[in-house]
Amino acid sequence: MTIENWQEYGFDTRAVRAGQERTELGEHGEPIFTTSSFTFKSAAHAAARFSGEEIGNVYSRFTNPTVSIFQDRLAALEGGEACVATASGMSAILSVCLALLKSGDHLVSSRSVFGTITVLFNKFLPRYGIQTSFVSLSDLDAWRQAIKPNTRILFLETPSNPLTELGDIRALADLAHENNCLLVVDNCFCTPVLQQPLKLGADLVVHSATKFLDGQGRGVGGAVVGAKHEVDEEIFGFLRTAGPCMSPFNAWIFLKGLETLRIRLEAQCRSAQRLAEWLQQQPAVKRVYYPGLQSHPQHELAKAQQSDFGAIVSFELDGKDQAWRVIDQTRLLSITANLGDVKTTITHPASTTHGRMSNEEQQAAGIRGGLLRVSVGLESIDDIQADLARGLE
Ligand SMILES: *Cc1c(COP(=O)(O)O)cnc(C)c1O
Repeated sequence: MTIENWQEYGFDTRAVRAGQERTELGEHGEPIFTTSSFTFKSAAHAAARFSGEEIGNVYSRFTNPTVSIFQDRLAALEGGEACVATASGMSAILSVCLALLKSGDHLVSSRSVFGTITVLFNKFLPRYGIQTSFVSLSDLDAWRQAIKPNTRILFLETPSNPLTELGDIRALADLAHENNCLLVVDNCFCTPVLQQPLKLGADLVVHSATKFLDGQGRGVGGAVVGAKHEVDEEIFGFLRTAGPCMSPFNAWIFLKGLETLRIRLEAQCRSAQRLAEWLQQQPAVKRVYYPGLQSHPQHELAKAQQSDFGAIVSFELDGKDQAWRVIDQTRLLSITANLGDVKTTITHPASTTHGRMSNEEQQAAGIRGGLLRVSVGLESIDDIQADLARGLE
């Protein structure tokens, strides 16, 4: 029996089962279809598949059964009609832009997006006649004022990296729709476990599957979720032509990741909350950025649009020397820029992820030398605290 409407099932059931259709071999686990092309029963059968008269697999740049399971499962979790998987998070965002925008169009983006996205918007899209204005994520008036007659997309990531600032998805969706624009939300930090932007009015969700969806640092991938018209027609149309598709092996890794996503994130959020509260009590720590703290300026918005507060905790020390000392005193934490892993990672944004920004840009964005970002994993929280305490003393 094939289940048509996964929305009738609970989130956890969808996470484990949505999208799988067993072959006649009756395999229990999802198979990895490591094949580039598919064969046909006859010349006429091939012609029918190529013309689209019969729906089915032709070539793995277009569709692949393992990739399709991942796509259907993520769509079911985000509550979207359709999903396309991509080679990376960046290629998901590139595909959205190149499929939906044309020369002369304009985009408004939060200033606090993943650094590489800023490079894409600032350096590469202008070569194709697409301009971007950057605004403060939480300043609704700034978004309103930045919209021009040729604006087509509003783009944001919430909570932001590394300062955990929030954007009001519902308000921004209304603003986008009043102006005939699409709202695109990068849901990498929250995943559908904590936040479902489509339900708050967003039109498209993009993901870096590299982070929490995998959760175990095994592969690079991405996805776009949304309505059939944009995703299945426009974005998939671009993707099958341009080719930044997800490999079947990576799709299999990510769909295994989805099965445990909720219980991982719940445990990681619990530890992140404890870490944030503990950091607040450390004399060397000047400020802690975590939406789960009462002191977070958007704590109420976080409670309203997220089901929990996430696994990313940032905190500020006096300066770069103190921050580097904390990193260099760790024995357990991984010193890497990646996040969303079951292994806790620690990063100094000013010299790594945000290192290409000028001093003035860093100041404007609040990325100070003393700032550290921790992506909390699944280790015992006492051990994570002890590892940080050494450098904080
Ligand atoms: C990592 C990341 C991306 C880019 O994803 P890749 O898989 O590295 O291409 C996009 N958005 C956010 C929020 C990210 O953290």
